[in-house]
Amino acid sequence: MTIVRTRFAPSPTGYLHIGGARTALYCWLYARKTRGTFILRIEDTDLERSTPESVQAILDGMDWLNLNYDEGPFYQTRRFDRYREVIAQMLESGTAYRCYCSKERLELLREEQMARKEKPRYDGLCRNRGIAGEGSYVVRFKNPLEGVVEFDDQVRGRLAFSNAELDDLIIARSDGTPTYNFTVVVDDWDMNITHVIRGDDHINNTPRQINILRALGATPPLYAHVPMILGGDGKRLSKRHGAVSVLQYREEGFLPEALLNYLARLGWSHGDQEIFSMSELIEYFDIKDINRAPAAFNQDKLVWLNQHYMKTGDPEHVAKEFAWHMEKLGIDTRNGPELTEVIKAQAERTKTLREMAERSRYFYEPVQVSDEMKSHFTPELIPALMMLRERLAQLDVWTRESVHEVLASTAEIHGLKLGKLAQPVRIAVTGGTVSPPIDITMVLIGQKRVLERLEILRSQANMPDGVEGEGNAL
Ligand code: GLU
Repeated sequence: MTIVRTRFAPSPTGYLHIGGARTALYCWLYARKTRGTFILRIEDTDLERSTPESVQAILDGMDWLNLNYDEGPFYQTRRFDRYREVIAQMLESGTAYRCYCSKERLELLREEQMARKEKPRYDGLCRNRGIAGEGSYVVRFKNPLEGVVEFDDQVRGRLAFSNAELDDLIIARSDGTPTYNFTVVVDDWDMNITHVIRGDDHINNTPRQINILRALGATPPLYAHVPMILGGDGKRLSKRHGAVSVLQYREEGFLPEALLNYLARLGWSHGDQEIFSMSELIEYFDIKDINRAPAAFNQDKLVWLNQHYMKTGDPEHVAKEFAWHMEKLGIDTRNGPELTEVIKAQAERTKTLREMAERSRYFYEPVQVSDEMKSHFTPELIPALMMLRERLAQLDVWTRESVHEVLASTAEIHGLKLGKLAQPVRIAVTGGTVSPPIDITMVLIGQKRVLERLEILRSQANMPDGVEGEGNAL
């Protein structure tokens, strides 16, 4: 039985985008499922477009998604000697040849072919010349002239390409550097890749790559081309549709497991199950269940999954990610409630960790009550609020039950519905009108801070000490 070896081979010319992450996930899942090996290969030979920042963004994205690789990262730019070696072998064995055709000649050829409405392609002049020319040259692969390249795409089914359609691909430029399709082939061969899972924008490269592999005496791997991801408007997903970079999803407050679960289902299914743990994904994932049709990105579903994982995920893990957001907002969480408790209280009412962080400042920092908010502290409420403060100050145990009891009985004494009292209290202790249930909110803020905030309310209301505030306006 062959041991499965998959690879994710991004070109570091931008961030790690959603489509790339999905490809990486499928490669990773298949390797994990089969107890095979998952390899990360950075295809950085395009020196003009590759940047160290993109390499870092890919590594950080993989790391955040927890898609660990067993081998790599390998960098193609560090393998130039190996590519040169293979090119020399191919020249030697006659599966490649030097082409001395000038730019001008190729340009002319192209124009003529276009004028005849033919597909522009190299005419094989140097292939047939048989003698060394002069000056600079490129190296071309001797593509078979006849026959058909066929392969069973693991997603698309059987595909066939006529060799007559494929011209002699340049494998080394005039400066000796190898070209893209060639480096992929050498690497897939050297790295013993058994399954190439990648975006279907590479389908047309596949027959060329298979031909080169065969010329090298290698057995081509199995190919699985995954359909693209569309935006809500049916067009290929791009920046226009919003976030496409994996790390941007992090910034926006998504949990990695929500994104992974979402990406797994975007283009693959297992019955109509929507929520999968990682171990379920590993168990159920199979290449043959990848959909043939392109999938449309649906932000609402991602949000729904995110909330699910915020509510049900391992609290320590969610807290780690939440801490990252709090730090980004400059909120020092060392002094205040446990993050896991805040998450428990907030998960139900927030969609993302960023939103949760934005709405959790008051647990850790002093609040500012705007004048508009202060208008909720109507004169008839002041005595109740002041009594509440006094009674809260006497509490020896600060629990949801004890706080609730004080709130309820104080409201009752003043002939108020609990909600009537709760809202101004909420404003006083959080600075706003939205928070988890008031008793939970107060417990989390802590007794000392709650009393301080209610105390500030008194001074703002220009109240004398004690509870007899009747008649005093704000
Ligand atoms: N480097 C290619 C890309 O980023 C992928 C090549 C491959 O998977 O064969 O699109």
